[in-house]
Amino acid sequence: MWTNWSGGQRCGPAATVRPLDEAGVRAAVRRAAGNRQRVRPVGAGHSFSPLAVTTDVALDLSALTGVVSVTGRRARVRAGTTLAELNAALAERGLAVAGLVDLDTPTVAGAVATGTHGSTPRTGSLSAQVTGMRMIDGTGAAVEVPDAELDAARTGLGALGVVTEVELEVMPALVLRASQARMPLDEALAADYLDAHRWAEFSVFPYAQDALARWADEADEEPDPPSAVRTFVERRVVRAAAVGGGVALGRSVPRLVPTINRVATALTGTGSVTDLAHRVLVARPVVRWEEGEWALPREALADGVRELLAAISDRELDVGFPLEVRVGPAETGWLHPAYGRATGWVAVHAATGTDPEPLLSLAADVLGAHAGRPHWGKRHPWTNREVAEAYPKLADFRTIRDHRDPARVFTNSHLDSVLDG
Ligand SMILES: Cc1cc2nc3c(=O)[nH]c(=O)nc-3n(C[C@H](O)[C@H](O)[C@H](O)COP(=O)(O)OP(=O)(O)OC[C@H]3O[C@@H](n4cnc5c(N)ncnc54)[C@H](O)[C@@H]3O)c2cc1C
Repeated sequence: MWTNWSGGQRCGPAATVRPLDEAGVRAAVRRAAGNRQRVRPVGAGHSFSPLAVTTDVALDLSALTGVVSVTGRRARVRAGTTLAELNAALAERGLAVAGLVDLDTPTVAGAVATGTHGSTPRTGSLSAQVTGMRMIDGTGAAVEVPDAELDAARTGLGALGVVTEVELEVMPALVLRASQARMPLDEALAADYLDAHRWAEFSVFPYAQDALARWADEADEEPDPPSAVRTFVERRVVRAAAVGGGVALGRSVPRLVPTINRVATALTGTGSVTDLAHRVLVARPVVRWEEGEWALPREALADGVRELLAAISDRELDVGFPLEVRVGPAETGWLHPAYGRATGWVAVHAATGTDPEPLLSLAADVLGAHAGRPHWGKRHPWTNREVAEAYPKLADFRTIRDHRDPARVFTNSHLDSVLDG
């Protein structure tokens, strides 16, 4: 039985194949297509939505790892390389990837396929850094994705082929000074804060007054010793653990949730630390949850956040996790939720073991009404009806899909529902 990270998606594939190289991927795709079976490539299983779920063939890419080549500002890596492995391999060469994602356990191909993003107002997501891709298409052929198809393939949802290699634009390693502090919500929502840093985000608990802000900027000072960096990063962990404790207590005594949220906000520490970007930004979750996240036009972000907090409070929902608020520039990926517009992201979380639906559907209603588009890797109720309205390049994506996967080898009922209707 396969389960995703949250445990919310489960399936029993007829076969799980773990190819050791690209030839193995080709053989697996050809065999499945010959047997009229469908194939789902699987990364680290960190998506909350059922993108990777299958009852036919699950293709586990975890053996396809490592750097293929680094030439100037281009690094080519195998698809199953985790972001942690990518960061470490680039750092050894004095390099880094620009799309600063704060979780490092997903795979490169999985993170790219779903448009995984951090919180950088001027730098696009990891999929925006993609300059080339190699994949096995639905006929079993190996293809270097032509430039004309790259904006379809970069946020391809695993619907065009099995990616075997990804080429990314890289830059010189980046030293950041990261800070965190409590901040009034209005201040955290202001462009003066969110758009003023290299990386900036905030969390806000329903029923609490203040936000918990974290930001980072380039620094030319010497990195702090590893112990100081560990303490700073762990402070996030400690906060998450405190939230986890609050979640457990709130689960058994829901009426305490507003009080717990205010206490968790008040306890959060302040401080700063300096080190390589991937070391200071990394998050290490200690509890599990279900999550929905919506990409709003940037100008709608403040209203969307305030309305969602008010709606949670009006309905007296027991929400023991903070909303997470981030920003990013317009993306070129045809199916990227930030396609064509600067974006404000709002994520909601519900602890595993609680019913996530009231919160997830409230967020979908409130944030969807602000022209929000859901993150593909997170829980959402959209079908092809909403997708067709929100994505002007969907028809072009379908044309490429018809060409690369005419027999629809790479699909499941979820993809049928969002892409085909
Ligand atoms: C704790 C946690 C924190 C998170 N934080 C963030 C965050 O900060 N920002 C954010 O944007 N998202 C975040 N996510 C969401 C998550 O990172 C993304 O959904 C991402 O896709 C996960 O990558 P994965 O390797 O687990 O891919 P999977 O979930 O296994 O797969 C995702 C999709 O990619 C496809 N795929 C995987 N490998 C290939 C391949 N080789 N070829 C073609 N298609 C492929 C799959 O078929 C599927 O459609 C978080 C998730 C968790 C659990």
